[in-house]
Amino acid sequence: MPNPLLDTSALPRFKDISPEHALPALQQLIAEHRRKLAALLDNGEISDFDSLVIPLEEMNHELSRVWSPVSHLQSVLDEPGWREAYNASLPLLTEHGTEISQNEKLREAYQRVADSMPGDCTSAERVLLDHELRDFRLAGVALPEAEKKRFKSVLQELAATQANFEQNVQDAQDAWHFVTDDAAVLAGLPKQTVARARREGEQQGLSGWSLKLDFPTYHAVSTHAENRALRRRYYKAWSTRASDQGKPSNWDNSENIRRILKLRHEAAGLVGFGNYAEYSLATKMATDTSHVVEFLRELAGRSRTTAESELASLQEISPETLEPWDVPYYLEQLKQQRYAISDDELRQYFPVTTVKEGLFGLASRLYGVSLQRNDKVHGWHDTVVYYDVRDETGAVIGGFYTDLYARCGKRNGAWIDECIVRKNISGENVIPVGYLVCNFTPPDAAGVSLLTHSDVVTLFHEFGHMLHHLLTRVDYPSIAGINGVPWDAVELPSQFMENFAWYYDVLARASAHHETGEPLPREVFDRLDDSRHFGAGLAMLRQLEFALFDFRLHSEFDPHNGGEVLDILHEVRQEVALVQHPEFNRMPHAFSHIFAGGYAAGYYSYKWAEVLAADAFSAFEENGIFDPGTAARFRAEILEVGGSRDIMEAFVAFRGRRPTLEALLRYSGIAEAA
Ligand SMILES: [Zn+2]
Repeated sequence: MPNPLLDTSALPRFKDISPEHALPALQQLIAEHRRKLAALLDNGEISDFDSLVIPLEEMNHELSRVWSPVSHLQSVLDEPGWREAYNASLPLLTEHGTEISQNEKLREAYQRVADSMPGDCTSAERVLLDHELRDFRLAGVALPEAEKKRFKSVLQELAATQANFEQNVQDAQDAWHFVTDDAAVLAGLPKQTVARARREGEQQGLSGWSLKLDFPTYHAVSTHAENRALRRRYYKAWSTRASDQGKPSNWDNSENIRRILKLRHEAAGLVGFGNYAEYSLATKMATDTSHVVEFLRELAGRSRTTAESELASLQEISPETLEPWDVPYYLEQLKQQRYAISDDELRQYFPVTTVKEGLFGLASRLYGVSLQRNDKVHGWHDTVVYYDVRDETGAVIGGFYTDLYARCGKRNGAWIDECIVRKNISGENVIPVGYLVCNFTPPDAAGVSLLTHSDVVTLFHEFGHMLHHLLTRVDYPSIAGINGVPWDAVELPSQFMENFAWYYDVLARASAHHETGEPLPREVFDRLDDSRHFGAGLAMLRQLEFALFDFRLHSEFDPHNGGEVLDILHEVRQEVALVQHPEFNRMPHAFSHIFAGGYAAGYYSYKWAEVLAADAFSAFEENGIFDPGTAARFRAEILEVGGSRDIMEAFVAFRGRRPTLEALLRYSGIAEAA
């Protein structure tokens, strides 16, 4: 039987694909691509864009289509086979990638094509060539053979170590439970958290409750549990995951962290950078490392007064000196006191299906697209749903899978990923398809999943990324959708979209009380709106703490010193944080964004892009949030162009000027404190 992973004639055949298909598919495809590339380079004819770049785009597109289900399934399915298949295939893929970007003959061919291009410097073709030539440089194409080889093996080891980091976090988390027979310990927790813990308990044959360490449970305990000891216990379990302090400690990431930092530093050094932060900025919008640090410190400075007064109000209502495990709890308490608004009250109005309908309706109103559930498409789990995206003419222009609920073996957090990237070359138009993944509380016994308002914001965020992926008009996959967009601008469409989740006209259409069907009452919305800025100063400092830690870690790394991770964390907390964390805290050990994901020396991107997102959204505020002209401009200048255009140029084209910090500070309620 032919390998179903290699069947790229339609959507991935999730029903047929199994882990043993991964390695053979990749081996076969890479061997084929090697032959094709060799033949291409032997052919003296390749002197123009169509004969050189198009075949390379085709090959990359094919490879990404085959790899996408492998990488996706290993992060969402509780099946050791997928992890093994992923780990076995990853070195091949990494090696192949470096082999191509270190191919001097290929680089020369790209250079020849670039030199022969007409003077039109803004075309997508020109941008694509510039990106490719830059990536050759960043992969050490010009290095002597021995160093090239070293660079390649560093990247190999790095990929494997990063994958192991993430897997440790997941295993450590999945292995932890809190079991109790005493209902009083759970006082204050939302009904659905308790019900879920009871179901877990039953499944484990217990008479009481069993609570997991996934994000929904951790969040529920830290915001709602009246029992301080339980909050501390969860804080400790969460902040020591995959560390020397964690229990059990089989998944300690300490050595992985040292390895990853050392390898990144070495890779950056090999291709001529002083440290990994500099290397990271070579493909970003921010231009130099001191600029990034200044940007973060300026935001911290401008947020500090607000955060201090927020903390003082929390201290007033807390009978004891505030510890980190008290802050989210008293924030929630104070929020209820001041605004009479609670997660639990709001949740009643946000069944996930209604939220989706409202969100899709918004996309339709802004961009004229319609989204329809398509039950003929099969996913990888029975809770997965597929949607077709159609344009005004009814033509299908894309599609995406949603996989929304937390479960064992599934990676934390919320994200989107590419299943198929848009491609419109060689007379073939392939439409984009994506995966949208969240970790919301699973449906109750009646099949209803209720979202908190912050879950709603998360869904809007991820859907913003999805629109970026789906609405692209760029024909070349390497710069279509999210591809080729500088990482510190990638969060622009997503954070932009979050703003809509704070408008009554939007929420009224995205809500229906799960028992009465009543949309979110205006009066409840007003209280929610009043509470919008509540805790914003503290939240801002928390993000800046992560961002500054990440950036300093990568810019100040010294290969002769292995133990600076916790020292830098300590310094950053001294500088930025208002509540100090206990000595056992090992936040870095589960900080997958920077040690396993793409945010290394790039966590600042969230704040960087948030400035752009807030400023872009303020244009909608000025013109009316559903203004068709503004939406059309945002779509055309930002969402459709992918990586085919300089992002600052695109922003200015949309906004009529360069971005400023003011809109972000205003949305965070901290502008006055400046
Ligand atoms: Zn995002």
